[in-house]
Amino acid sequence: MVDSVQTPGTATNQYCRPNCHLPLANALADEYNERPSWSHLTVDPMTNVMSSLGCTQVMYCAFRALLEKGDEVVLLEPAFDIYGSQVILMGGVPKFVSLKTDLSGAALTSNDVFTFDFDALEAAISEKTRVLVLNTPHNPTGKMYSREELTKISSIVSKYPNLVVFSDEVYEHIVFDPEESPHIRRVFATLPNMWDRTLTMSSAGKTFSTTGWKVGWAIGPDDLIKKMTDLQQWVNFSSPSVTQDTIARCLKKAREPYEGFKTFYDW
Ligand code: PMP
Repeated sequence: MVDSVQTPGTATNQYCRPNCHLPLANALADEYNERPSWSHLTVDPMTNVMSSLGCTQVMYCAFRALLEKGDEVVLLEPAFDIYGSQVILMGGVPKFVSLKTDLSGAALTSNDVFTFDFDALEAAISEKTRVLVLNTPHNPTGKMYSREELTKISSIVSKYPNLVVFSDEVYEHIVFDPEESPHIRRVFATLPNMWDRTLTMSSAGKTFSTTGWKVGWAIGPDDLIKKMTDLQQWVNFSSPSVTQDTIARCLKKAREPYEGFKTFYDW
């Protein structure tokens, strides 16, 4: 952050570009475009990246931009409390679907204890559903959705052209044993026909232990990102340039060797 403030030419004392501070948009686009699962998609830093005051405000802009009074939002519970509250604030209607639980003792990890009831999910989604919120790794259980689960969800979603999916992945780097149980990061948007209707959301707060800096972002198709940016323009106009510039630097550094580990993320 000191570098962000002191380096001449970074303009970090001035209003930020309302979509996202450009160095942060570039750093995020570079990172997403390098991932094998994104190889058939290209994230354009100018039009596919939006940043705001943490993932919370990103989500607020997304719900505000999309929901009309009475629109339904499907949430898988247990769920992070802000989802339902934001939906109610917008005049939307949260519809809860419980994850299935297997407490028999045979299931060893949260991935096995909390499973999907696909019939219940299918029954909850209708023409009235505007948004489905996915959260993986999941707060509060730690469950990480498998590729099979995500693929099955995408086949339900594809029956409803009006439905937008938020994939909240703020805990994407915080997994117990990445080799044994990898989080399938940033995958939902890359499944067939899902890019145009998915906002992949994340935040620097958890990854860099900087929740107080409130830097979150969404990656998605031009039209959805534009709607959110237009909205941000009339809510907070823009978010702090300093913290966004700093996180742009952190994203680059985090991929370099750190404390004897291959990267900061491995550490
Ligand atoms: N999504 C989930 C699942 C969370 O747990 C949190 C924070 N507890 C957020 C989003 C909000 O993140 P931020 O601090 O970036 O607003």
